[in-house]
Amino acid sequence: MTGGARPRRLAVISVHTSPLAQPGTGDAGGMNVYVWQTAQRLARRGVEVEIFTRATSSADRPVVEAAPGVLVRHIEAGPFDGLDKRDLPGQLCAFSANVLRVEAAQSPGYYDVIHSHYWLSGQVGWLARDRWRVPLVHTAHTLAAVKNASLAGGDTAEPMGRLIGEQQVVAEADRLVANTRTEAAELVDLYGASPAKIDVVPPGADLDAYSPGSRAAARAELGLDPGDTVVTFVGRLQPLKAPDVLLAAMAPLLRADATGTLRLLIVGGPSGTGLEHPAALAELADAMGVADRVTFLPPQPAATLAQVYRASDLVAVPSFSESFGLVAVEAQACGIPVIAADVGGLGVAVRDGVTGRLVDGHDIATWTAELADLLADPARLQRYGAAAVTHAQGYSWEHTTDALLASYGAAMGNFPAGPIRRGVLGRRTRGLLKNRPRMAG
Ligand code: UDP
Repeated sequence: MTGGARPRRLAVISVHTSPLAQPGTGDAGGMNVYVWQTAQRLARRGVEVEIFTRATSSADRPVVEAAPGVLVRHIEAGPFDGLDKRDLPGQLCAFSANVLRVEAAQSPGYYDVIHSHYWLSGQVGWLARDRWRVPLVHTAHTLAAVKNASLAGGDTAEPMGRLIGEQQVVAEADRLVANTRTEAAELVDLYGASPAKIDVVPPGADLDAYSPGSRAAARAELGLDPGDTVVTFVGRLQPLKAPDVLLAAMAPLLRADATGTLRLLIVGGPSGTGLEHPAALAELADAMGVADRVTFLPPQPAATLAQVYRASDLVAVPSFSESFGLVAVEAQACGIPVIAADVGGLGVAVRDGVTGRLVDGHDIATWTAELADLLADPARLQRYGAAAVTHAQGYSWEHTTDALLASYGAAMGNFPAGPIRRGVLGRRTRGLLKNRPRMAG
């Protein structure tokens, strides 16, 4: 990564997730945390940050100073509430128009760089880039081609419209920020991205909020029994995150536990297709005869979530796909070992046999055996937990912010002075789309 230029003012586009929303339910998750954590740190480094997100309540003021140097601009596009994420592509024109109007009301050259998060924002950013003549840096966060290759049962495939939209943004963006080398390779192999414009920038954890602490105090605060063994899931409750896989894998262990001290703690709210039947997990626990051994908590703010991690013996991240997995890093930063599916960024976030366990696939019996193995060996859990703290120190938002600044600098340094060239679709992407309706490129 090169580039010494530094933006004075950055336009962050985050159409479908407001950094002000509580993560862990609905559409709010790791991306919100990413945008919010990096925005504050960029502002502390002297960059003025303006975040454009869709207004989802009539109470949303058009401009909110969310932190010193960080403005959140609520953009009207479609109804405030009740708009499904799947209907958002139809509102992109309205969203884009209102973003362009905000800029048009400012002095010329108001923004120096645009950073778009998720493909919907990339579509808006691409247009703004052409109009404002400033570079577009894009982070995909998740990729439909990757998600569709490892769908959870009960999840629906991402539509072709998203695949097409993603590849357009990949072609048009001046730089692409990938969470891991795996994601960088996916951008190249599946979407035909030019490797030269990809920066690998790992996300982080808020190491001030997530740090080791007293398990006994955390349990007392959360009303958990000090003598229990607690396995914890944290995240949006939807098939992709596989809380049902964890529940099914834990059920035989919970039933066989004669001491009655093993407990499963599930923290988060319904999201995605999980919204269609929010009571599904509780019903599953009931059907498996373990309802009294499973505790559900609604989404928690970071301070309480840190206590949730500290109260746990083991945190499980069984997702079907995960571009990074912030929960895994946060738990480790609190000194808690993690058992995770060996998918996407989790293979980087967790060090197998050092800070936790990486499990291949989602076979329930395999997960039960791996969980039983770990829970039977408290000394190993303690060893992994100690190593986890050190491992997590390598992932801080400060580091992410430094790397983003380098990426912005490179984008500014390479931005063409002349006419903006049309994005070029990669060969492989054309292959992906070849049986689809004809499109330019
Ligand atoms: N989160 C939270 N409160 C909750 C559950 C989750 O603040 O009750 C946050 C969590 O701290 C993490 C993010 O939501 O930073 C989830 O990010 P992750 O990368 O694990 O999953 P994603 O939501 O991006 O799929």
